[in-house]
Amino acid sequence: MRPRLNLLFCVALLCMALLAPAAEAKKLKVITTLTDLASLTQEVGGDKVDVEPLARGYQDPHFVEPKPSFLLKLRNADLLISVGLDLEIGWLPPLITQSGNGKIQPGSPGYLDASQFAEILEIPQGKLTRAEGDVHPLGNPHYWLDPDNGRRIAKGITPKLGEMDPEDSAYFQQRDRDFEKRLADADKKWQAEMAPYHGRMVVTYHRSWPNFAKHFGLDVQGYIEPRPGIPPTPSHTIELVNLMKRENIKIQLIEPYFDLKTPNSIASMTNGKVVVMLPSVGGKPEVTDYFKLFDYDIGLLVQAFQGTK
Ligand SMILES: [Zn+2]
Repeated sequence: MRPRLNLLFCVALLCMALLAPAAEAKKLKVITTLTDLASLTQEVGGDKVDVEPLARGYQDPHFVEPKPSFLLKLRNADLLISVGLDLEIGWLPPLITQSGNGKIQPGSPGYLDASQFAEILEIPQGKLTRAEGDVHPLGNPHYWLDPDNGRRIAKGITPKLGEMDPEDSAYFQQRDRDFEKRLADADKKWQAEMAPYHGRMVVTYHRSWPNFAKHFGLDVQGYIEPRPGIPPTPSHTIELVNLMKRENIKIQLIEPYFDLKTPNSIASMTNGKVVVMLPSVGGKPEVTDYFKLFDYDIGLLVQAFQGTK
């Protein structure tokens, strides 16, 4: 009895050893710059893709410190998905070059700029360059913070995955339809939670929230940064405080990677509140996907609005 069992065990092990690498090798390797794009890709790709983001969700996506592990990930990628609109220009281009991976160079089939699928707000009229210190020279790159754009991005990623893995094309399309449905259901709930606060005025630290504000009916009246990427100045802060007092604006939305010194002093001068909103999946350990990101932010906002008039 025993030798036979041993033999069976060995055969099973051999099968696993032979099958596992084959199944593993079939998965598309997708690298995304941000966690949000990773979450959307995972929704569509399911278990046919291996998705990994480069930046962490609690990092400022404009200024990510490159790590050696980034190069390793990029070297082995079949597909790289970026936010675009110059969001990653400060850190990504040299990494792509150094990766030596011809598949993911801009212009190659394995490079996908997700901004082409999204509604982009705040596109500058006339000429604006980064030399002027503005980190949004091509329009607002924080577009994933509108569930409608999440839907559009997933829909844009779907044919790309199908192109790279034609056998699973129908699977990706099915998953995209399923995601769209679940997102629409979740959005109904979010909209209902936000409905009582439609039209509420807020200020934000950075211009991270125009798409979010448009979708959920918030009115962003000012920014703690004088311009995107430029730290607060005393004169700008005084102007902002005056505006907030005049318009009775109590809520400041702050990204988790900014210093709270200026927001806290503004809050004390306006008798208002600082709300640390998450602009990305993974900003807190429990915010593990695109749905939980909105659950979290809307939960915080509703709580803040309930406590202010
Ligand atoms: Zn920005």
